[in-house]
Parts: sequence; C-alpha cells; structure tokens
Amino acid sequence: MTSRVATPFVAEAPQIAITIDDFNFFGASPAVAEQRNRTLLGALRAHKDLKVAAFICGKNIDSDLGKNLVRRWGDAGHLICNHTYSHWFYPNRSFEEFAQDTLRVEPLIRDMPGFTKRFRFPALKEGDTLERRDKMREFLKAHGYRMGYVTVDASDWYIDQRLRARLTQNPQSDLAGYKQYYLDHLFDRATFYDGLSRKVLGRSVRHTLLIHHTVLNELFLGDVLDMFATKGWKLIDAEHAFSDSVFSAEPNILPAGESIIWALAKATGKFNDVLRYPGEDSVYEKPKMDKLGL
Ligand SMILES: [Zn+2]
Repeated sequence: MTSRVATPFVAEAPQIAITIDDFNFFGASPAVAEQRNRTLLGALRAHKDLKVAAFICGKNIDSDLGKNLVRRWGDAGHLICNHTYSHWFYPNRSFEEFAQDTLRVEPLIRDMPGFTKRFRFPALKEGDTLERRDKMREFLKAHGYRMGYVTVDASDWYIDQRLRARLTQNPQSDLAGYKQYYLDHLFDRATFYDGLSRKVLGRSVRHTLLIHHTVLNELFLGDVLDMFATKGWKLIDAEHAFSDSVFSAEPNILPAGESIIWALAKATGKFNDVLRYPGEDSVYEKPKMDKLGL
C-alpha cells in the first residue's frame, strides 16, 4: 500500500426527498387546477427530474379531472401512495371505519403507473390508544402496506391558507413576504429534525419533507428546491429515501404519530425539553405571521 494523503473530515450532506400530500384543489376551475398541477410537475422536472411521493386523499380526486391530474404524476415517474379516502382524524373514528376508509382510495389509484402500497395517516395521527394503534399497524401489513412516514414535518398548509386569504382580498398583493416566511420556516424545521435525528439515531436519516399540492407550492416549489440545494442539502428521489431503515420503525408512544424522528425521540424519554405537541401546527406560526402582517 502506498501512503495516502489524509482527506479532511467533511460532515455528510443531509439528504431530503419531497412528499406531496392531499391533492386538494380547493374548488378551483379545471383550468386553474390543471395549471397548478402542470407548474408543480414542471418545477420538479426542472430540478434534475426529481421524483417525489404523492400521498393521495381519495375524496379530493374522485372525479375524471382529479384522476387525470394524479395520473400525470404517475406518468412522470412519481410514486402514487395512499392517504385515505376521507382524510379523517383517526382518533375520532373506530378502527373498523378508518381501516375501510384506507382501502376506499385504492380503486381510484391502483391502476395508475407509480401506484405504491405506502401509507400516510392524515395529520400524522396514528392512533391514541394501544389497541387502535396496533390494529392499524397489523391491518396495513396484512394489506401489503409500508409506512410513508414524514421525517421533516412543517406547516406549509397554514401558510398557504393565509396566502390564499390575502389573494382573495387583493389578487395583486405582494407575496414576497410569504415566500421568505415559507423558505425560512422549511429550513428551520429541516434543521431541527435533522439535528434531532443525529442526536436520537446518531446519524442523519434520508429525510422526507411534507408539503402539499397548494397555491403556495405552485408559486414557490422551485424556490424550495433551490434553497435546499444552495444550503448544501442533497435532494433525493422519494423511493430512495424510503429505503432508509427509519421507515420500518414502530415507536412505542401514545398518542402515536407526528414526524417519525419526533416519535423516536419521544420514545426515548430523553428529549421532552425540545418536543412540543403537536410537533407542528398553525398555533406556532400564527403569532409570527400576525406580527409580520402576512
Ligand atoms: Zn393530508
């Protein structure tokens, strides 16, 4: 062996995949919904043809238009996954009702390219009792599903809600403040969950960021991708992210759910000083957005 020049230690760049939930078109006209769908797909294509996982809520796309819009994601190579039909909050429903609602979305998406048996609970709420939690875990396995956990949770849906309200008031509103708030929020949350991952698991997992099919992302998804790349994060395909062993974890906590990193941290009992409940919600963003007049 010849001697080697020692390479300086470089911390491994964090890796992150994008996951897009709900496909709620908020009653938009077909032309507006089509345009939003095209713009989101275009932003991903423009970014090295990045592949995401789409978690589909059945009731939002239960129409010819809705199915056509989702199918384009499958045609473009993205994963099409299950996010229930009705988007119920599991703690408010019986296991039987909720389990049936999980299967109800399948006929809408199972023949599409990209259909993948990966499941995500609405609002990341996985059951508030041991029985309810474990029955769904068994049910999903029996039906061939793997979990579509979020590692980086965020409140993009709430920023979108406020941005749409502003646009309703005045379609000509300056949206620069919303864009900055959104980018800062996502990076802050990504940094938090990545730091927690390193503390709890001793490593940076392959992250999955939760965002939604919204006006906010129609406007700023390209900026989100650029931001992560500029900050030294590596954008990866969702399928690759999901091959990380963290997505097979079954943390023993109640209520079950939240970011999988949050849940694994909670299960150790050691991080209660940094774990708020819920992990993410509008209540944390509202005062800050109010103060900024957004
Ligand atoms: Zn959802």
